[in-house]
Amino acid sequence: MPDPLSLNVQHLKASETIAIATEARRRKAEGEEVYDLSVGEPDFDTPALVAEAGIQAIRKGHTRYPPNIGLAELRTAIGSQLARLSGGRAVNPDNIVVSSGSKQALFNTCFTLFGPHDRVLIPAPAWVSYPQIVHLCRAEPVMVPGDIEWGLKVSVRDLDQHYSKLTKGLILCSPCNPTGSVYTLSELRAIAEWARKHDVWIISDEIYRRIHYGQGPAPSVLDLPDELLERTVVIAGASKAYAMTGWRIGAALAPTHVAKKIAALQSHTTTGANHPAQWAAAAAFGDPKVEEDISRMVAAFRKRRDYIVNRFRAEAPGVEFVEPHGAFYFFFRVDGIRERDPIGSAEFCAQLMQDEGVALVPGAAFGDDRWVRLSYAASQQTIEAGLDRVLRFIDRLAAVPAASNA
Ligand code: PMP
Ligand code: GLU
Repeated sequence: MPDPLSLNVQHLKASETIAIATEARRRKAEGEEVYDLSVGEPDFDTPALVAEAGIQAIRKGHTRYPPNIGLAELRTAIGSQLARLSGGRAVNPDNIVVSSGSKQALFNTCFTLFGPHDRVLIPAPAWVSYPQIVHLCRAEPVMVPGDIEWGLKVSVRDLDQHYSKLTKGLILCSPCNPTGSVYTLSELRAIAEWARKHDVWIISDEIYRRIHYGQGPAPSVLDLPDELLERTVVIAGASKAYAMTGWRIGAALAPTHVAKKIAALQSHTTTGANHPAQWAAAAAFGDPKVEEDISRMVAAFRKRRDYIVNRFRAEAPGVEFVEPHGAFYFFFRVDGIRERDPIGSAEFCAQLMQDEGVALVPGAAFGDDRWVRLSYAASQQTIEAGLDRVLRFIDRLAAVPAASNA
């Protein structure tokens, strides 16, 4: 009998997105032809100027322990950028704590705010790590299904239906992983007003904010008035917009007492994020020249999105999908494709990998088995070849005769 493990990890499962990407890489390394449209990781290199700042940091000897809360230069750069994106609102860098990726910023925030008996609302489908992180805090994740007619977003009515006296938090993600939906400012305002009325913390994961296909950056809770933000933590990150996944830099902007506890937590866990990587991120957030790289990458994501949407419309007209307005995910519905015996997302993805060598992520990983996620943070060539195969697979599935004709 193995030793019983702590209750801390009673619900813990490895991340499915990471597992699928690892499996796709393993198959490729073994010489299999694999079209990896699974993981949400930009295929671009980190902008040269940013990489150079990291190299210079090492050369200059910034290789000792960093300030636990994060470099002042980086916190100032993040604060100024958040302020600029939200029309010049005041953002105090002292309220920003830098972490090893926004994943750690999210963990730190949840661990600081939630504990046993607390419930945390999570609009679903949701990124795989949110419920796991809430479980690690020994709190209870409560999934709130989004409305299909509304890009799988949730409304205040949906939140009301899942609210209880034990509800302490809400994790919002806009632009959304896995759907690509974006909440409008008035939707965010309604949710923030609801949260204030119920004393519910909002953790607003805005890691995809710059990857938005409308005008400017996606709407943020930071565009709302101060009085709605007293119980709000904003999560920002370098990974997606700056193609810096491997540098592991993210941040939380939190009220002072929360930021202090997050820093204390970090002082006992990681001692802060990688020191040279923080200098690189300071260049990413702070140097206006990097804006050109962001525009170039977002334009490429937009082109890929249009390509996928157009091909699905033309070649798989019966397949429902969420209109993507941000991030780099295309979320489409598979349960109706095979008339006989509706296919689930895990079976769809496993079969697709086996027959066509394309890696996608089953919606089941995000809490909804009817859908599948395709990441277009991949080269145009991989997207084109992968899509040929996905559409061919859908055609074959749709051709399976219905039970009564079989
Ligand atoms: N939030 C969301 C919604 C994500 O998709 C990811 C993906 N990695 C993260 C947070 C974490 O990103 P990172 O730790 O690389 O900053
Ligand atoms: N967030 C990305 C994804 O959803 C990267 C993998 C992960 O951290 O989950 O694919």
